[in-house]
Amino acid sequence: MINLLNLDREELITFFAELGEKSFRATQIMKWVYQKNVLEFADMTNLSKDLRQRLQTIACLKLPEIQTMQIAQDGTRKWLVQLDSGNSIEMVFIPEEGRNTLCISSQVGCALDCTFCATGKQGFNRNLTTSEIIGQLWLAEQIIIADGYVTENFKHAISNVVIMGMGEPLTNFDNVVKAMRIMLDDFAYGLSRRRITLSTVGIIPALIKLKDQCPVSLAISLHAPNNDLRNQLIPINKKYPLADLIKTCRDYTQGNRHVTFEYVMLKDINDSPFHAKELAKLLHGILAKINLIPFNPFPNAAYQRSTTETIDNFRNILIQAGLVTITRKIRGDDINAACGQLAGKVQNMRAKVD
Ligand code: SAH
Repeated sequence: MINLLNLDREELITFFAELGEKSFRATQIMKWVYQKNVLEFADMTNLSKDLRQRLQTIACLKLPEIQTMQIAQDGTRKWLVQLDSGNSIEMVFIPEEGRNTLCISSQVGCALDCTFCATGKQGFNRNLTTSEIIGQLWLAEQIIIADGYVTENFKHAISNVVIMGMGEPLTNFDNVVKAMRIMLDDFAYGLSRRRITLSTVGIIPALIKLKDQCPVSLAISLHAPNNDLRNQLIPINKKYPLADLIKTCRDYTQGNRHVTFEYVMLKDINDSPFHAKELAKLLHGILAKINLIPFNPFPNAAYQRSTTETIDNFRNILIQAGLVTITRKIRGDDINAACGQLAGKVQNMRAKVD
């Protein structure tokens, strides 16, 4: 049985061509699934009876399953989503004035082992399939619509997607790109490229491919202004050092779009005025937005959050240097839904990969 949720529009067209069907079948199916939320072939009334019956014997539309939901005091919701018997991931819904953001995961665990991240501490099991990635958006849409959330001017309840949950999306390139294509597709979610943000440590060859294949908004997990410190915090920096990464970001936007740089504020590690000045120098001349993220603690973490005063000072130095800088609001931390706190359930841990 082929799961049609794993196919983007181009692949659906090929699938139907092999059945001797016209290409518009692909867009018909996409509208049923992603716009009308219908998953039963039998209910897809503009497909011929014969085709509906054939689809029932050779294809399926299979989603992951919601296991639990928690709601934080600030309205943030976290869902545990079961993929198979041993693996679950987490996704987070963040309602704000004028926008509803869904933070989705791309891998079960993560292989990169950044020292300050709870997901990395879990180890890595496997990549998510396209259906498991787009399925998160499908499931969240259902729940949010059922709960009466209405986003004015949007066809859908979720207005923004950030690929900032568990995993490093650029080490699951093909499936992530296919899922993003479905998000962008006018016959599915019709989100604009500005409303999809992919967060990455900066896997340079994959960033270069992304620019050609699916140039969505970019967030780079920077966290340090020099290689010595970044090597300690983000081991993969040794392979893709800062100067190359910054150059790749500049090429990505071609000077006409912003790149967001995320910088987790770790007490006495990367938060001094000296680091702020070094960071301003590193990002000089690039269209950057800096997002300072107060460190979110998790069990056995080796770090502490910088004080509010330190974070404000750090921000002011960057602003004075002409860089757009905001401190990310802490959301959902009472249910461990904040950045870096997502752990899910990872079984059959494999050795780390690079
Ligand atoms: N692998 C991707 C996406 C997942 S992490 C990436 O690294 O960008 C999403 C963001 O949360 C990243 O910027 C990550 O560095 C940050 N983060 C990780 N652990 C954190 C923690 N404990 N507190 C605050 N932010 C954290």
